[in-house]
Amino acid sequence: MNIAQKLSQEQYEQNFGEIKPPFTASSAVAEANRCLYCYDSPCMKACPTHIDISTFIKKIATGNLKGSAKTILQSNWVPLTCAKACPVEVLCEGACVFNVKGEKAIEIGRLQRYAMDYYFEISAPKLFIPKRENGKSVGIIGSGPAGLACGAESVLLGYEVTIYEANKIPGGLDTWGIAPYKMRQADSLKEVKLIENLGVKIQTNVLVGKDISFNELLNRHDAIFLGIGLGESPELKIPGEELPGVIGALQFINQVKNEKWSSVNIGRRVAVIGAGNTSIDAATEAKRLGAEEVFILYRRGKMDMPAYEFEYELAIKDNISFYFQTAPKKIIGSNSVEAIECIKMELGELDSKGRHSVKPIKNSEFVIPIDTVIKAIGQTVKTEFISAIDGLKFEDEKILVDPETYQTGNPKVFAGGDCINGGKEVVNAAYDGKRAAHGIHKFLFG
Ligand code: SF4
Repeated sequence: MNIAQKLSQEQYEQNFGEIKPPFTASSAVAEANRCLYCYDSPCMKACPTHIDISTFIKKIATGNLKGSAKTILQSNWVPLTCAKACPVEVLCEGACVFNVKGEKAIEIGRLQRYAMDYYFEISAPKLFIPKRENGKSVGIIGSGPAGLACGAESVLLGYEVTIYEANKIPGGLDTWGIAPYKMRQADSLKEVKLIENLGVKIQTNVLVGKDISFNELLNRHDAIFLGIGLGESPELKIPGEELPGVIGALQFINQVKNEKWSSVNIGRRVAVIGAGNTSIDAATEAKRLGAEEVFILYRRGKMDMPAYEFEYELAIKDNISFYFQTAPKKIIGSNSVEAIECIKMELGELDSKGRHSVKPIKNSEFVIPIDTVIKAIGQTVKTEFISAIDGLKFEDEKILVDPETYQTGNPKVFAGGDCINGGKEVVNAAYDGKRAAHGIHKFLFG
């Protein structure tokens, strides 16, 4: 493998520096004062957790930052993560009335971050008192945003809650899956700590199905919540995929999240397969690690690309090259990846999801020399232990739940987040977890 040029620690820090810096006190107040505090505000409707945005912004304008944080936390248990990682451009800020007036939307995400930064700076004082213990317990599998939100809400409802987390550091996707230039691990861990301080116990290094059986958990708790997210990318099913130098996007992003950047050997030329938001994260992270050339290969056209437009623009700004209508055919190399053979694709009719069908163009093969292949072609639900859960049903490889209560086909088992929606935003998972806690409460107490 061609080794990418090693950067100085200072250079890495610069490359992975935040792309959205925080507000200063005066700029936050000035921005908060721009808000029209709309009645029936469209921004609040557009937020999946329905945070009372105009109220929390008004509190910033009047200097009540702790009150602002409380308003936010009443709707969302991972608001610092959401402030930094949410696609606000297509959610709350995208719905702000200023867009209609042709003016810049209120920077809701940065204001939310401002309030939450303050709250954590003053050591996250207690804002909520749990109800008296109700004698029942909830076991949660996975400490990502859905699990954390379900845990926090369940504790407030009087449950004893234990989260079982396979990783040594909790937080799931918030800790391990968000590009460092958007958010560092330390921020996610502040929210984990907040939820632990409410009374949620988190057992790390516990892999359900190996360290403890699912049935044991089912006997131990009155209800179980699955917040297990998704597994690694499926296989490309092309020759050469087993070569050293081929890596799954999540595995790669996890390495980058460790923040030991000098030890990640990405090579000089990198191909990322797929064009979703995870692909863009992987590509821009590879570039910031020092790769000289990074290519995104996508078998459909730009108009079919699942990534958000603003993510695409970020990739263009980072000099990522896009090969549209291009599919990988073979990974070439003797001891490790040396090149990738691709084939051009022709676009056909639109499929049921509104994307073009594709078919290979005869004799259009070409070879790109590369050192690393990152697979980012979507993820599927982990099947290790859940395939054995009685009554669980699936649709399109997602766990099927009641949309109101989040109860699965097994009455004692609830689920939320990526494992039921196939991979949406952190904010959707946070909402699911909170709602599922109330679903559990309804199931156990009517
Ligand atoms: Fe403020 Fe915009 Fe929301 Fe209206 S829509 S309350 S102006 S952030």
